[in-house]
Amino acid sequence: VIFAHDTEVALAAAAALVNTGLNDGDQLDSPPALEAFARRWQWSGVGELGRTDVEQVDRLRPVLHGLWHTDTDTAVAVVNDLLARAHALPQLVKHDQWDYHLHATSAAAPLAERMAVEAAMAMVDVIRTQQLDRLRTCDGKDCQDVYVDLSKNSSRRFCSGSCGNRASVAAYRARRR
Ligand SMILES: [Zn+2]
Ligand SMILES: [Zn+2]
Repeated sequence: VIFAHDTEVALAAAAALVNTGLNDGDQLDSPPALEAFARRWQWSGVGELGRTDVEQVDRLRPVLHGLWHTDTDTAVAVVNDLLARAHALPQLVKHDQWDYHLHATSAAAPLAERMAVEAAMAMVDVIRTQQLDRLRTCDGKDCQDVYVDLSKNSSRRFCSGSCGNRASVAAYRARRR
C-alpha cells in the first residue's frame, strides 16, 4: 500500500475527473453527465446539479491537471489555495460502506468544492510523502490521460490496459518489420 485507501480513491477520482476534459473533448458538459460521473465515483449525497456545478467543475479540472505537471512548491501553493478557499476543516467520518476517513467540507458544499477539497487532501499525503512523481501522464501514442502510479516499484507507464496493449502490439509489429 502506497497511500491510505481513501487517498488512493481520491487520487483515482481526481485523475478520472481530469481525464473527462482530455482526449475525447469535454465529457462533463451537462448536469446529467456530471451527475453520472459523481455517481460512478460514489460521491455521497449529490443533490440536484445545475449549470453552475458544470461550470465550477470545468474551472476546477485544469487546476487539478496542473498538479500532474509541476514541482513540489507550486503543487503546495495550489493545494493550500484550494483548502483555504473552501475553508476546509478535516473531520473523521464513517458513512455508507466506508470506515473512518477524512471529510473536510460539509455535505452541503457544492460538488466542485467537495471535489477540490478531496483532491487537495489526497495531495497533502502525496506531497508529504514526496511521491509527486507518481502523478503521471500516459505514454500511449495519442493518449493524454493522466493516472496515479500505485505500483510497488513505481513502474506503470500507461493510463489503462488498453493503452499498454496497443503499445506492445505496435512494438511487436515494429520488431517484425
Ligand atoms: Zn466519505
Ligand atoms: Zn492512455
